[in-house]
Amino acid sequence: MHYPEPITKLIESFMKLPGIGPKTAVRLAFFVLEMKEGDVLDFGRALVNAKRQLIYCSTCFHITDKDPCMICDDSSRDRTTLCIVHDSKDVIAMEKMKDYRGLYHVLHGAISPMEGIGPEDIKIAELLQRLQDDTIQEIILATDPNIEGEATAMYIARLLKPTGIKITRIAHGLPVGGDLEYADEVTLSKAMEGRREI
Ligand SMILES: [Zn+2]
Repeated sequence: MHYPEPITKLIESFMKLPGIGPKTAVRLAFFVLEMKEGDVLDFGRALVNAKRQLIYCSTCFHITDKDPCMICDDSSRDRTTLCIVHDSKDVIAMEKMKDYRGLYHVLHGAISPMEGIGPEDIKIAELLQRLQDDTIQEIILATDPNIEGEATAMYIARLLKPTGIKITRIAHGLPVGGDLEYADEVTLSKAMEGRREI
């Protein structure tokens, strides 16, 4: 099936997005054609502005429109605790919880020998740099509970051991409302590992 050039371009653009296959791309492209011109312009502007106006905080590497970011700039936050996460989406998830009042460090990835991603490819050197002034007393490793996340957490924990900083790992376990019999082995074994006295 041959489409006119502008719509082919639009389909190709949608296919560059994660999780969008050819069928969905065609559906979205035709949907755009049916949209009001003003809405399409707003959409286009939102895409361009997000790309142009968002930068990474030079301290924690969270996405922001000003440097330092709102979190790093907030003097009411606990500057002695640092939570380490993979990406900005994790920061936003943690912030929604509203319980955590410390600072963050966004790694922008995870160590993955399979994909050729080593410690030098994520923001670990920048993390070490941040620890120079002795303000941080606890580091919470909140990397994902998968192979790459565990490898990254282990690597950082080992690297920071000589600093004497308290290093903790978030507990993993069964999701609330979950069913024990449907939990996978890794989740179940982590839930056992993280058990506590009640
Ligand atoms: Zn920041």
